[in-house]
Amino acid sequence: METLHDLSLARGTLDRAGLRRRDPDLVPLLLKDPLTRIVELAQGRAQVVQSDRDCALFLRSPGEQDAFRLAVFLGQDDHGTAYLGVVGDAQDSSGSAAWRTLREVGVLLSDRDAGIFATLQGLANWHASHTHCPLCGATTESDQAGWIRRCTQDGTEHYPRTNPAVIMAVTDAADRLLLARSPHWPQGRLSVLAGFVEPGESLEAAVAREVFEEVGVVVEQVRYLGNQPWPFPSSLMVAFTGRAVDITLHLDHEEIVEAMWVSRQDLREMVAAGRFGISPTVSIARRMIEHWYGGPIHTAATA
Ligand SMILES: [Zn+2]
Repeated sequence: METLHDLSLARGTLDRAGLRRRDPDLVPLLLKDPLTRIVELAQGRAQVVQSDRDCALFLRSPGEQDAFRLAVFLGQDDHGTAYLGVVGDAQDSSGSAAWRTLREVGVLLSDRDAGIFATLQGLANWHASHTHCPLCGATTESDQAGWIRRCTQDGTEHYPRTNPAVIMAVTDAADRLLLARSPHWPQGRLSVLAGFVEPGESLEAAVAREVFEEVGVVVEQVRYLGNQPWPFPSSLMVAFTGRAVDITLHLDHEEIVEAMWVSRQDLREMVAAGRFGISPTVSIARRMIEHWYGGPIHTAATA
């Protein structure tokens, strides 16, 4: 079966050059080299240079202030140019580049830049939430060019977390798609179901369990569709299709406030009437719905 390609946040092109992370002098040396390209992240935003035609990360040479910031080695390109991410506290608004979130610009950036931003955002989120050792409670510090944190007391190493989540396009025998609304979403916003994978569970088992828990539907023929990182804060979204055995819906109202089976014609009419809010184009959910629909869905409200 055909899978989803070119997902917005799964397009990175840098060589991560993981072996270089072991060099304790790597970051200090790169910070002294004006050829190093720096990407700064502050409060979940990076600077981008945007024109009518394209959108690119603002890359600069290292500055004095960078030595006092969390710095992570993101990798190198085909020319050997190294890329460092630094995490600042405040957005310096003196330049012409605008501060944007990954959600805002993830689809607009080049493959290289989308990969850089997704990696830096994921790493920065992890560093911010792992300041203390889970074993002894002492502080941890960044090591290996930002790819581990080490406990300052017992020396244990802690690695960046990626939490697998499944997301599934469930259809019935008439090829209608199951769409649902989470209680956190505004009226009219609908998407496919998703949920986290539990310990001891395969991805396919998680798909079946989540669909049954949330809407009471038994699913079979679970097939892999694609995946992309979703660093909000630390997920990897793994997409599947599945076929419902029975279409009767029994909602878990804590998780789902509304769910329905929609045909392509239903969806067309909902979009035309402005009654359908859809996930942003950067999300794998949007791509899954459009994959089922057979082409792009254009709504006034969302990109
Ligand atoms: Zn410890």
